[in-house]
Amino acid sequence: MSRSFNFCAGPAALPEPVLAKARDELLDWHGKGLSVMEMSHRSKEFVSVSDAAERDLRELLSITDDYAVLFLQGGATAQFAAIPLNLLRGAANADYVNTGQWSIKAIAEARKYCAVNVVASSEGERFLTVPPQSGWATSAGAAYLHYTPNETIGGLEFGWIPDTGTVPLVADMSSTILSRPVDVSRFGVIYAGAQKNIGPAGLVIVIVRKDLLGSPDPRTPAVLDWTLQSANGSMYNTPPTFSIYLAGLVFQWLKEQGGLVAIGELNRRKAEALYGYIDASGFYANPVEKASRSWMNVPFTLADAALEKDFLAGAREAGLLNLEGHRSVGGMRASIYNALGMDAVDALVSFMRDFAARKG
Ligand SMILES: *Cc1c(COP(=O)(O)O)cnc(C)c1O
Repeated sequence: MSRSFNFCAGPAALPEPVLAKARDELLDWHGKGLSVMEMSHRSKEFVSVSDAAERDLRELLSITDDYAVLFLQGGATAQFAAIPLNLLRGAANADYVNTGQWSIKAIAEARKYCAVNVVASSEGERFLTVPPQSGWATSAGAAYLHYTPNETIGGLEFGWIPDTGTVPLVADMSSTILSRPVDVSRFGVIYAGAQKNIGPAGLVIVIVRKDLLGSPDPRTPAVLDWTLQSANGSMYNTPPTFSIYLAGLVFQWLKEQGGLVAIGELNRRKAEALYGYIDASGFYANPVEKASRSWMNVPFTLADAALEKDFLAGAREAGLLNLEGHRSVGGMRASIYNALGMDAVDALVSFMRDFAARKG
């Protein structure tokens, strides 16, 4: 068996020890004679798996008891609708920041339920900058403010947390959660699809301040109703049991790596190494403003776009997979989530250097 370095933006690489453990436990979990996939979600065995996953996530992110943690289905996209449905609480409008493709999708979905005020947009700057909060035009009576701390496609990341006063701050952290420590107490809601830094696609984690529960829109589908799901321990309906189990293994692995301070330091060094090489190369380029470059998703172009096919084929041959950029923007993109270590970045930089020397 040989595993390649997988730079896919999502579903993304998982830590090899996690996959090996899941393999070892697949047919017979802890001597119980069955797989986690085959257990009742209400069995004490599965409840222990689910409780441990929540406990470890709370520990990693220092989530206090003021917050509910939900394990739901439908990915981050289902939450684009759940957010207005659960949070409008009678209000007619909500504020959104537009920093790229995922912001745009969140805004389009919210528009089905309320008046969306776009407080700021960096579309005019081709989404290469984060609009400073001093220029944001918030609306009176907004039920919440939504933003995307890391734009997975554009590779644009906020290096700061907006200050919205008493207006609940809502963050789509799909591609940045668990990449470094974050002060959860600054947020009303944090949500994240699992397939970037947590586990299998389909699972979405919602961390919601409990005072925001209790007044969902009466039309809210039961599976998206945070109040109902919270009252039922995320088991109003059958939860994605195997995905929760796998996420729990990832949380354990993260704790073994030293938690978010250690993984954050490693992620900073990985990003510095890759951007540092790109900037110095004279052959590759990343157009995002330096202070807002993503630690997780690194888009880059080659000096000559005609070389892209060659680059991708050579990379594949060198065991470096999924480096093509998003179909909407082209170019290249290396996603370097938690599961990829410095060895992956070193291998990529070494291939890029060699390619530039041959073709530059
Ligand atoms: C991947 C991603 C999504 C979409 O997740 P789905 O699981 O496809 O719904 C939303 N927001 C961000 C920031 C993402 O990276």
